[in-house]
Amino acid sequence: MDSFIDIFLPKVCLGCKTEGFFVCTECIEEISEYKYLVCPICKKRSIDGRIDKSCRSESGLTRFMGSPLSHSDKSVKKIIHAFKYQHAKEIASPLSEILIEFLNKNNFGKIISEYKSRVIFVPVPLYNFRERERGFNQAIEIGNYLSEYYKIPLEEKVLIKHKNTEPQADVKNKEEREKNIAGAFSINPTGSDPVGLIENKIVILIDDVYTSGATMRECALTLRSAGAAEVWGITIIRE
Ligand SMILES: [Zn+2]
Ligand SMILES: [Zn+2]
Repeated sequence: MDSFIDIFLPKVCLGCKTEGFFVCTECIEEISEYKYLVCPICKKRSIDGRIDKSCRSESGLTRFMGSPLSHSDKSVKKIIHAFKYQHAKEIASPLSEILIEFLNKNNFGKIISEYKSRVIFVPVPLYNFRERERGFNQAIEIGNYLSEYYKIPLEEKVLIKHKNTEPQADVKNKEEREKNIAGAFSINPTGSDPVGLIENKIVILIDDVYTSGATMRECALTLRSAGAAEVWGITIIRE
């Protein structure tokens, strides 16, 4: 697998060009990080990730537990681009470490311990063709790290994306993004009891980037109409 990745991308730090890493430890330390939880819509600070009532329907979420990194940071942009489009699967590891550190600082473990047996992680799915083209789904890669660390199951087969939409990053305004993604997700019709897995659960959606929030909202609506008690969101990067 390593040699397969190397064909696409030489292993050179995206920040300083040191060989042997995609992102070296020094460059990781230089990336500026967010410290607090915020509402992803109005950006108001939130102590426990709970989204204020006025932004709930727009986000579709009850809580938003993350993002440590800013989309406007230049090195973050480079890293995420490589992660998504250049098959650099290994970037999931340093990114997940940054995310777990952020979550721990913001009491994520303590917050979910109240709900423990009712919590599951669900990665935002890719359309089948894109996943095959890319070789992996970055949300599943991050989800695997979180699942192992917090001992919460990652349910990859609950949601599917049945519509091949334009990448949200290529769609400029918010309305167009909502239109682009509308009706794109559904509960997996071939999964083994997907509804049983999400009924009355706290479903925590995992994705790499939160920008307009249209993708997460669409997933959240699908999950809630199938019986999820609450849907929360976690991403590594936000605006
Ligand atoms: Zn570096
Ligand atoms: Zn808000």
